[in-house]
Amino acid sequence: MFMIRENGVNDVTIKVLYCGMCHTDLHHVRNDWGITMYPCVPGHEITGLITKVGKDVTKFKVGDKVGVGCLAASCLECEFCKTSQENYCDQIQFTYNGIFWDGSITCGGYSKMMVADQRYVVRVPENLPMDAAAPMLCAGITVYCPMKDSKLLEPSGTPKKVGIIGLGGLGHVAVKFAKAFGHYVTIISTSPSKEKEAKQRLGADDFIESTDPSQMKAKKRTLDFVLDTVSAYHSLGPYLELLKVEGTLHIVGAPDKPMDLPSFPLIFGKRTVKGSMTGGMIETQEMMDMCGKYNISCDIEMVTPDQINDALQRLANNDVRYRFVIDIAGKSSRL
Ligand SMILES: [Zn+2]
Ligand SMILES: [Zn+2]
Repeated sequence: MFMIRENGVNDVTIKVLYCGMCHTDLHHVRNDWGITMYPCVPGHEITGLITKVGKDVTKFKVGDKVGVGCLAASCLECEFCKTSQENYCDQIQFTYNGIFWDGSITCGGYSKMMVADQRYVVRVPENLPMDAAAPMLCAGITVYCPMKDSKLLEPSGTPKKVGIIGLGGLGHVAVKFAKAFGHYVTIISTSPSKEKEAKQRLGADDFIESTDPSQMKAKKRTLDFVLDTVSAYHSLGPYLELLKVEGTLHIVGAPDKPMDLPSFPLIFGKRTVKGSMTGGMIETQEMMDMCGKYNISCDIEMVTPDQINDALQRLANNDVRYRFVIDIAGKSSRL
């Protein structure tokens, strides 16, 4: 049994329709990081309908189609909160396994209903399917921010050579964003079996098998930007060599051991390595609106709540194309 807090003055209650399954959920369920507070209700890729609003809620009304991502609360007073970079507030609390202002433990979207502060809720555009939109709330925003940061999502921007390491939940969304803005996209992967899928179905322009040194060497200094979505340990050196002079490698995958970062490819190519974690709330709404405009959503595999344990096991084996989404409301939803 678990408790969900009462709907406060700034809160909305949401009937959860769909919830994507992120790797972070798996880590919490298994207590891999030693921080899980049981009973834990995971899930931070949530779409649903508002069923109740608190008296100070101005952004939403009952019946609105909304989404909730990783963030549940932040201090509201620091420089990051004040500039809508709440994701970098040092008192940030997450959608599940976090501690809300009233001291209650936050509960995520693997649940028929949830309560969220209106400041951390976004609107889902009318034309987006609620199921395939759900993973955008974590996977989508995680790749949107690095690309926006490197000015790759500007309607009148010049086409760039974009590399994406790893073609999973994050990588395949990154391909869609990059192609929507006219970039030349190269998938860099350890599995040659993904080449056909990457090119034919997702529209990638090129493919490099990263375990083949001759392919890696042939593509030296060809890319403007590389997004690294891989959460397994790897050395950054060979990927840095793919970048042009002054290119940027942006990390969003999080291996649990430190990665090798050789200095030569940085120095000889004046290259940058940086990282980022999810996005602020204004950016998250911006990303959802952009997905509506360009009709971008996630490729999903739907599971029912009784299949969650099997799906978690398959997630652990990377056996999913590209995101599991739980049909929380089942037949009671038509969206
Ligand atoms: Zn996530
Ligand atoms: Zn703050």
